[in-house]
Amino acid sequence: MKMAKAQETVLEIDLKALGHNYSFLRSKIKPETKFMAVVKAYAYGSDSVAIARHLQELGVDYFAVAYANEGIHLREAGVTAPILVLHPQKAHFQSLIENNLEPSIYSKSILSDFILTAQKLGVKEYPIHLKFNTGLNRLGFSIDDLPEISKLIDKQDAAKVIAVLSHLAATEDSNETEFTNFQLKRFEAICKQAGVTFKDKFLKHVLNTSGIINYPEAQYDMVRSGIGLYGYGNHPDVDSHLIPVATLKTIIAQKHNIPVGESVGYNRKYSSNSETITATLPLGHADGIGREYGHGKTFVSVHGQLAPIIGNVCMDMIMIDVTGIECSEGDEVIIFGKELPASEFSQTANTISYELITGLSQRIKRLIIN
Ligand SMILES: *Cc1c(COP(=O)(O)O)cnc(C)c1O
Repeated sequence: MKMAKAQETVLEIDLKALGHNYSFLRSKIKPETKFMAVVKAYAYGSDSVAIARHLQELGVDYFAVAYANEGIHLREAGVTAPILVLHPQKAHFQSLIENNLEPSIYSKSILSDFILTAQKLGVKEYPIHLKFNTGLNRLGFSIDDLPEISKLIDKQDAAKVIAVLSHLAATEDSNETEFTNFQLKRFEAICKQAGVTFKDKFLKHVLNTSGIINYPEAQYDMVRSGIGLYGYGNHPDVDSHLIPVATLKTIIAQKHNIPVGESVGYNRKYSSNSETITATLPLGHADGIGREYGHGKTFVSVHGQLAPIIGNVCMDMIMIDVTGIECSEGDEVIIFGKELPASEFSQTANTISYELITGLSQRIKRLIIN
C-alpha cells in the first residue's frame, strides 16, 4: 500500500500493522489464554482510542492502562471491554469504580482504602486484581501478606479478588533466564498459596511481550502485551515478524547552502569543513526528539537515503545534512517507523524504543490509516 505523502509533521498510525502484530502474538499463546492489550501512555505514544477500538473489534479480551484517567478516556470513547488500571491512586478510586475500571491492588493500605470506597458506593463483589512483588521490587504485596489480605477480603463483600498478577524484570534478556525462572517460581508459589486462601477461582497473569516470546509455558490464564502490539519485540528475530505501527514523518521546511567555516544552529555546535547543504525540519525536542539525537549521531531518511541530524536539536526544529541527496523544500522525511525502526533510532541515544515512542508530544498530529 502506498502511504500518503506528509504535508506537515505527522505520526501515521497503521491499524493493519496493529492487526498483524496482534495475530502474531496471539499465535504464540493457546487459544484459550486471554490477551490483555496494554494501551497506557496514549497506547505507547500513538492514539489510545483508535488503537483500543480496533483491538476491541479484533477480539482482545482485556485492556490495561497505568492510571485511572487513561481508563476513563477509553470508557468515554466507547470501549466496553474490561480495563485494568495498573497503578491506581487513592485519589481516583471513586471515579475508577464509577467507570467500571479494575484496580491492580498492591499494598494493604491501598486494599483497605479501596474496600472503604467500594462500600461507600454500595457496590458488591467489585473485581480487583492483586499484584505481588516477585523480584522487580517496584510495586506489590509479598507472599507473607496473604493472611492479612485474606482477613481484609473475608470480612466484606464489596470487593472480590478475580486475579493475581506479578511483573517480570528481564524477560527480554537471555542472560537473566535464571532470575526470570526464579521470579516465575515465586509467582507459582504465591498462586498456590492464594488458591488455598481464596475460596473463589481467580485468573493468573504474569507475562509481558518478551515473556510471551521467551516463556510461553508461563502464560497462565492471560498475558499482557504492550510493545509487541506496536511493532517492537526487543530482539531482531522477533522484530522481523512485527511491523512498526507508528511512523513519524515530516517535510523539508527550508534548505540552506552552508559555506566552509560557517556554523549551524544554537551554540554553533555544527561547523562545516566543506560546503554543506542542510534541510530544516519542523519538529524538535518539544516533540520528543531530544538533544541526544543531534550532533551527527542519528539518521533520518530522505527519499530512502540516510541524512544525519546535525548540531543541537532545537525546541521546534532540527537540521539535517542532505549534501548529495536530491531533495527539495516540501519533500517528505521519515524520522522513524516502518523503514527506520524506533528500536534502532533510539539506540543512537542509548535508550529503548519504549522511551522514544511514548515521549512523542501530543502536539504532533496523529493520522490513522488502514
Ligand atoms: C507496561 C506493562 C506491561 C507491558 O509490557 P511490554 O513489555 O510493553 O509488553 C505489562 N505489565 C505491566 C505491569 C506493565 O507495567
